[in-house]
Amino acid sequence: MRTDEPLLLHACCGPCMTTVYEQLQSEGFAITAFFYNPNIHPWKERERRLRTLSDYTDSMGIPLVIDEEYPLEENIRMLLDAENRCCACFEDRLSATALKAAELGIENFSTTLSVSPYQNQSFIIEAGSAAEEKTGVRFIYRDFTESYRESVRISREEEMYRQPYCGCVFSERDRYLKLRSPGQV
Ligand code: SF4
Repeated sequence: MRTDEPLLLHACCGPCMTTVYEQLQSEGFAITAFFYNPNIHPWKERERRLRTLSDYTDSMGIPLVIDEEYPLEENIRMLLDAENRCCACFEDRLSATALKAAELGIENFSTTLSVSPYQNQSFIIEAGSAAEEKTGVRFIYRDFTESYRESVRISREEEMYRQPYCGCVFSERDRYLKLRSPGQV
């Protein structure tokens, strides 16, 4: 692989970005971060996570592309209609990332979602592979879960905001009811 191969990295938040960025960069990818997360409810929470991410990318000199759309009604409808809301959520975000990479002429895409030991990795792989098939942009999957603890350590040390729930309004409720989301293992 050449050492500057471009990659669009779907970023869910600042803390997850830290070690994923370090690992992909050490493999030689030239990374642009992409924020597309209409599943983060409500608006203020989305803003808080985005601000944490952009503070981090600014400090590291990482280009950041932000999707400013926030189709809340459509997102909630999609999650409610889905057989498995987390699969639909992964598919939506990874498909949008692959499409954006194609638009920008970037040949590879990946996601910070796979750093979480709580997410079902096979659902992420399925969603990324489907997006690759649809767009022709190569999905770079890595199981980053081993670096999760390190990402927690860095984010605490850097005093980053760490969110207390996955993102959607259902997961915000479920943390109090001690329920597991259908995308969690
Ligand atoms: S729990 Fe997380 S992954 Fe599942 S639908 Fe909600 S925001 Fe998406």
